[in-house]
Amino acid sequence: MAHYEILIIGGGPAGYTAALYAARSGRKTAVIEKLSPGGQMATTSVIDNYPGFPEGVDGFELGEKMEQQARKYGAETIYAEVTGADLTAVPKVLHTSEGDLTADAVIIATGAYPRELGLPGESELRGRGIAYCAACDGMGYRGKVVAVNGGGNTAVEDALYLSKLCSKVYLIHRRDSLRASAVYYKALEEAGVKIVWNSRVTALRKEKRLTGIELENVVTGEKSELACDGLFVAVGRVPDTALFTGQVDTDGAGYLVADESCRTSVPGVFAAGDVRTKALRQVITAAADGANAAHWAEDYLLKRV
Ligand code: NAP
Repeated sequence: MAHYEILIIGGGPAGYTAALYAARSGRKTAVIEKLSPGGQMATTSVIDNYPGFPEGVDGFELGEKMEQQARKYGAETIYAEVTGADLTAVPKVLHTSEGDLTADAVIIATGAYPRELGLPGESELRGRGIAYCAACDGMGYRGKVVAVNGGGNTAVEDALYLSKLCSKVYLIHRRDSLRASAVYYKALEEAGVKIVWNSRVTALRKEKRLTGIELENVVTGEKSELACDGLFVAVGRVPDTALFTGQVDTDGAGYLVADESCRTSVPGVFAAGDVRTKALRQVITAAADGANAAHWAEDYLLKRV
């Protein structure tokens, strides 16, 4: 059974930044990644808000570069799926599709994925009218008509962001009041966002791309059509933590509870990136977590008896 000083689960910006820092500390380090480097970031064609790239950077390319940089200092990547974990064992054990591995410290950087609406055609239209992140994909809808679905802070912030780019923004929410902070009502009005209350999206209209959506009023049952070029789905995110629940403390939404040190409730186990309880989930905050998690993992390894 191969043993590592630091094993990192997930090869997104948090995972590879942690790997870079851990390997540069001289620790035997590996990232376990089930697909390809980059994580959620790799699905974004242009990242405009990561500093140092004034022309923007392709998310897939940035993921590959992060992997190369960590590898340069000795971090390995193991392409496997983690299927189980015993995080309190000494050493810690990770069961993977490629066999069991052990580690002195584990950094969980498995991320969170946007909740889908589950409508027919949704996956197929992703990147062709269906989007899950306004800051990532909004620029592609400049001058177009878009709808945002959801009533939380993310949906409202997406709608406000898009109102600066798009010719018209609709906010579709299934109730008659927002879950988002009250402060946003005035901002939405001033931005000219049209709120469609008590409504849910029941079907997607398409040709080669999305052309519109079918709405249902949940109070009256009345159906209507809304022509639009884009639908931004902002109905919450789902952290990828199923493997760790019961071992590591989570909040009500399933995120691993950890502060900026990334230390979880289990000594020697760290949570970095979108999987951690935090206010802003972006590539840059994930990368920052990776550095902090590796720093505190090093501290743990030095101090453990
Ligand atoms: P959220 O607060 O859980 O809101 C999700 C929204 O989607 C809710 O309005 C919910 O409706 C709706 N929804 C859920 N499932 C749906 C479905 N199947 N169909 C239609 N609508 C559905 O998620 P979030 O907006 O992503 O925010 C996540 C957390 O991050 C929150 O704690 C939020 O406050 C925080 N956040 C903070 C900031 C900030 O402080 N600036 C920015 C973004 C996010 P209901 O209201 O009816 O449940």
